[in-house]
Amino acid sequence: MALPAENVLIIGGGFSGMSAAITLRRLGVNVDLVEIDPDWRTDGAGITVSGPSLRAIAEIGVLEQFKAHGAINDGVELCDSAGNIFQRMTAPPVPGSQGITGSGGIMRPVLAKILADATLASGTKVDLGVTFNHIEDKGDKVTVSLSNGDVRDYDLVIAADGVFSSVRKALFPDAPVPSFTGQGVWRAVVPRYGAARGAMYLGRQGKIGYTPVSDEEMYIFYTEARPTKDRFEQSELLPHLKGLLEEYTAPVVCKIREGLNESSRIIYRPLEGMLMPRPWYKGRVLLIGDCVHATTPHLASGAGMGHEDAVVIAAEFARGGSLEQVLERYQNRRWERCRMVVTNSARLGEIEKVGGPPEEHTQLMALSNAAMLAPI
Ligand SMILES: Cc1cc2nc3c(=O)[nH]c(=O)nc-3n(C[C@H](O)[C@H](O)[C@H](O)COP(=O)(O)OP(=O)(O)OC[C@H]3O[C@@H](n4cnc5c(N)ncnc54)[C@H](O)[C@@H]3O)c2cc1C
Repeated sequence: MALPAENVLIIGGGFSGMSAAITLRRLGVNVDLVEIDPDWRTDGAGITVSGPSLRAIAEIGVLEQFKAHGAINDGVELCDSAGNIFQRMTAPPVPGSQGITGSGGIMRPVLAKILADATLASGTKVDLGVTFNHIEDKGDKVTVSLSNGDVRDYDLVIAADGVFSSVRKALFPDAPVPSFTGQGVWRAVVPRYGAARGAMYLGRQGKIGYTPVSDEEMYIFYTEARPTKDRFEQSELLPHLKGLLEEYTAPVVCKIREGLNESSRIIYRPLEGMLMPRPWYKGRVLLIGDCVHATTPHLASGAGMGHEDAVVIAAEFARGGSLEQVLERYQNRRWERCRMVVTNSARLGEIEKVGGPPEEHTQLMALSNAAMLAPI
């Protein structure tokens, strides 16, 4: 079968770019990937992986590695600040997944290494410390000048260079820019303290949650309402996070707070979101992942959407047709699901910021999680 594009360049080696490299290589597409970071790093926090995201990870072919190096949990408990559980969300079997139940957690660098190993094993040509200087779509091919001096022709360029995408800025100057949501997220890595599954504790103007990432450890996240996009000095991180947890009397949160120390790998990041309206492609350049649907983490599905993008673009390649037909079908298949995740995540953040009704928060999470079980 003729492929709609035989030679593809992926710009950006994050979760979305690596996943797309793997799924396209499996079809026999020649894939080059350029990643600007010479050390191909990712931040050192944990990541929560929903059941539907695990389904995509399985289709990418790395579920066994995930299970070996991460943790699978049977759901999440929603609690008040004293630890009273008001809802236990048991993660149901994921349709079309050949037996996945539950959701997962893993350290980001661990998942990134699993995907990087699979990318290299797939035969993708990876150039680290390299970006594009110029992209010229000539109609029948796209010519890319790279920062290492190479000038190469491709049938398709896939931009996966994240929420602050330079490709988007260069080729879609009218696209919306990421905007600060008025919340920041604190993350840290702590012992598991016997936690059987993930949990979230809703406070006055934020929430703390955790997800086990291995037999020994879990990562915690705290979403804090902040009117401005602040940065913190390293020395401020520990006292600030401890202060935020003071309102919680839930026993496990007290243990977490007492145990936090200088080696707890504390990170703070202001939250930014962005949803680019269609079209997500122009000529022979397609944008995927956070470049077009950068969600806040309230449904823990941003990376999962990127994995799914990779599964769907490969499925549409396999269905065949002209490149334009493939890209059109791809974006139409992805749009509503990604829109729902970005919009509902943003709404959850709004509820948290004003200390809104826990019932609305819980209901929206349950509805969104149920919607995400649908086939992609
Ligand atoms: C605080 C926080 C917590 C989150 N928690 C979760 C969670 O629990 N679960 C979940 O599923 N999602 C979560 N997310 C979302 C998730 O992190 C993102 O959706 C995901 O990382 C997007 O992957 P990506 O590959 O599209 O983009 P990125 O991860 O941003 O990767 C982009 C890659 O492109 C590279 N790059 C950038 N510019 C260039 C260039 N010009 N040339 C070449 N390479 C370039 C970068 O170095 C990077 O490697 C969270 C996000 C935040 C902010």
